[in-house]
Amino acid sequence: MAHICKNLLIRCMDYRLNGKLGEWINNSGLFAGGYDVISVAGAGKHIADGSLEELADVGVSANLHQVENVILVHHSDCGAYQCYNFSSPEEEKKKQFEDMEKVKQKILEKYPSVKVIKVWAELKDPEGKEIEFILLSD
Ligand SMILES: [Zn+2]
Repeated sequence: MAHICKNLLIRCMDYRLNGKLGEWINNSGLFAGGYDVISVAGAGKHIADGSLEELADVGVSANLHQVENVILVHHSDCGAYQCYNFSSPEEEKKKQFEDMEKVKQKILEKYPSVKVIKVWAELKDPEGKEIEFILLSD
């Protein structure tokens, strides 16, 4: 029997997201119909950098579970982005926004039937006790 789920969450593995991201998932209404999870360092960073492995995982979701929405969550102060030695949080945010758009285009190229929703998670403190989740428009 087919098992179908509507959404795929691509998130960073960072533990600081767990609490507030879980709450946001429950309250946002975006995840009705269930969701698959890809949890890796930097969320979509590897896809943006050209890795095909995680893009293949998106394919499992898209083809096997017939997901309709890919919800891509990147966050501020991300360890996977430290390699760039940004001079400011704004600079990191700009790079991550560019990467999120790259990820969106790469996913749409391969799986044109899905909708990609970009979300920015702004940590308000170093431990992620407060996080603001911002839906990015296209
Ligand atoms: Zn991260």
